[in-house]
Amino acid sequence: MAMTDDIFAPDFVERPYWWDAAPPEEARDAPLPEETDVAIVGSGYCGLSAALELARSGLRATVLEAGPLGFGASTRSGGMVSSGQKLVITGAFTAFRPDETQQVFEESKGSFAFIQELIRREGLDADYQHCGRFFGAWAAGDFATLERNAGLLRRHTQVDATTLPRAQQRREIGSDLYHGGMVVTDYGAVHPAKYNQALRGAARRAGAALHSHAAVTGIMREGDGYRVATARGPVKAREVLVATNGYTDRAVPYLRRRVVPVASYIVATEPLPAATMDEILPHRRMMSDTRRELSYFRPSPDGTRLLYGARTSPFDKDPRAMARGIHARIVQVYPQLASVKLSHAWTGYVAMTFDHVPHMGTHEGVHYAMGCNGNGVAMATYLGWQTALKILGRQNRPSIFDGRPFPARAYYGGWPWMVPLVSAWYHLRDAAARPSTILGRA
Ligand SMILES: Cc1cc2nc3c(=O)[nH]c(=O)nc-3n(C[C@H](O)[C@H](O)[C@H](O)COP(=O)(O)OP(=O)(O)OC[C@H]3O[C@@H](n4cnc5c(N)ncnc54)[C@H](O)[C@@H]3O)c2cc1C
Repeated sequence: MAMTDDIFAPDFVERPYWWDAAPPEEARDAPLPEETDVAIVGSGYCGLSAALELARSGLRATVLEAGPLGFGASTRSGGMVSSGQKLVITGAFTAFRPDETQQVFEESKGSFAFIQELIRREGLDADYQHCGRFFGAWAAGDFATLERNAGLLRRHTQVDATTLPRAQQRREIGSDLYHGGMVVTDYGAVHPAKYNQALRGAARRAGAALHSHAAVTGIMREGDGYRVATARGPVKAREVLVATNGYTDRAVPYLRRRVVPVASYIVATEPLPAATMDEILPHRRMMSDTRRELSYFRPSPDGTRLLYGARTSPFDKDPRAMARGIHARIVQVYPQLASVKLSHAWTGYVAMTFDHVPHMGTHEGVHYAMGCNGNGVAMATYLGWQTALKILGRQNRPSIFDGRPFPARAYYGGWPWMVPLVSAWYHLRDAAARPSTILGRA
């Protein structure tokens, strides 16, 4: 084996680690129905959560998925279950009017409560862990920002957020790379593909029909409903929900102009000795840092491997090529893992929006819920449920994410040409904030 391949384990595969336990599923034997009450495009958390609620309420819910079931981000993600930090920390909540922000915080934190309750109520085998999250300060000045953020989070979302200085950070992470950090204990984790698989089971038990390899190619008004054209023939539907997030394609041009797909890359290491795992992740928390080009990592649910996600190059590459950069980043955080080998590397698309806020709503009568900005395990599940309640006329109040102007940009028609530019800018900013790391020193 060439020297450069030394980072890869002999059984290395370019496939999500998660798919070892819960691969996407072929479901193309049953013919598509001629008619349904609600056609749902996409079999991620959003589509499945909507299907579950609709079917449970007695409607015919039909999920139409282009690939195998669970093909999208929902079986590829980091599985970190947020309690609503992102909209606070990124400042995205300022896109809302001051009198709306309270509901923004309530619903972002509410999505966390919702997913936990759903997993409990439906008995979903999703390896849910209430583990907390550590945010490392990448540059010295970032620690003050984390202190401010902890205050904001406590005030707005009432989560337990505390900071710890560099001198104490080894309590949280077996690394000296960071300038201290913030810990949010109200934070969870799932096995993302098992969660998707379990949601498929719950939706089916409730009566929903799930069809793979049924790419939707167009949605046309017909009578008092819609004619949904698919690769496996048409379906007539009273209502349609588009839940395609980072995989939104030409079938829905209005939405394709509003979500920017950005590839995120993850690797898994070979199983590590228990003592190493104890050292690098003493509380088995979800981990990330304050770099603009996000770095996030976690233990596998069984606590034996490190999973690490990042975009280490502005340009999209095959997962194996990107894995080399991620391996270097692992070693930057954990020099003690220099000889660790990677068993899996994969990629998936997140959906960024121009206002950094998720959206649900209707366009020409067709429902949509998407744009989770890389933070959709809880939020996509929640928005799917909210859309189902809306279709059923059972919402207590409209969601704050519903019906807001969904911004597009004149320069963007659906091809994300600007992603490498933004990514290169982020890399430059991260390097400028900490020049010594370019030379490999912490
Ligand atoms: C690598 C990675 C890491 C992530 N890590 C985290 C994390 O740790 N925590 C977190 O909260 N979020 C994370 N996310 C984001 C999270 O995974 C997503 O926000 C969430 O899974 C979106 O769910 P969804 O149901 O909206 O879309 P998806 O799960 O992406 O499903 C959309 C589906 O629509 C299908 N589709 C598209 N077009 C059509 C069509 N025309 N016809 C039929 N089907 C179609 C696709 O094939 C796809 O299966 C991550 C994402 C990625 C890619």
